[in-house]
Amino acid sequence: MTIEANLNQLRDQIALACRRANRSETEVALMAVSKVHPVEALLEAYAAGQRLFGENRVQEFQEKSASLGGQSDLEMHLIGPLQSNKTAKAAELFAAVDTVDSLKIAQRLDAAAKALGKKLPVLIEVKLSHEESKHGIAPEELTRLLAAMQGLEHVVPHGLMTVPPWSEDAEVARPYFQRLRELRDEAQRTCSTVVELSMGMSNDFAVAIEEGSTCVRVGTALFGKRLYPAP
Ligand SMILES: *Cc1c(COP(=O)(O)O)cnc(C)c1O
Repeated sequence: MTIEANLNQLRDQIALACRRANRSETEVALMAVSKVHPVEALLEAYAAGQRLFGENRVQEFQEKSASLGGQSDLEMHLIGPLQSNKTAKAAELFAAVDTVDSLKIAQRLDAAAKALGKKLPVLIEVKLSHEESKHGIAPEELTRLLAAMQGLEHVVPHGLMTVPPWSEDAEVARPYFQRLRELRDEAQRTCSTVVELSMGMSNDFAVAIEEGSTCVRVGTALFGKRLYPAP
């Protein structure tokens, strides 16, 4: 299967999941997760019409972006953990940072975005599973973080993001998606810009769409298996 064929199949599957959930296809964005794959794969998806992408590491995208140029409408988000010493680079390279998980990171991104003269949309990553390897803030801390972020003028919280525990069985992820949606609904009452729900990956995006996802992040089903695990 080519990347273009995979993309078409994914769009069909997303449309089907939307119909099942009684939602409009226009409510659900498909993010192509190009981490670990070469820039050629990214460009192939771009040529097939894909515009929204996600990369996990600042350094990796910095290297890839040297091979990009003419794709001014390509929208790249950071979807991997961000260390505070990389915030300035991240604010410069990415259209959005979807993994904000502390006030410190938000403040540093705000300062960097201010220096660049731009507003940076961000998502708050929420850790709903107890796995050591997962990132994000605890759900109990969300209200306080969003309140503190109201004082920041250059980062705008657009929504929430989560990565549930991986399972063969997509149903295992459903309660995590439901929980993120509840948190989003609560947060929206005091912070009206919090609307997006970035949830769902290759094996569980249909369930995520049923539970209200507005952005599914798909790597494997689009680009094939990664040759080594992403950090
Ligand atoms: C790698 C990754 C994805 C894509 O995962 P697949 O299972 O390959 O679709 C989505 N979101 C995040 C945060 C990732 O790190």
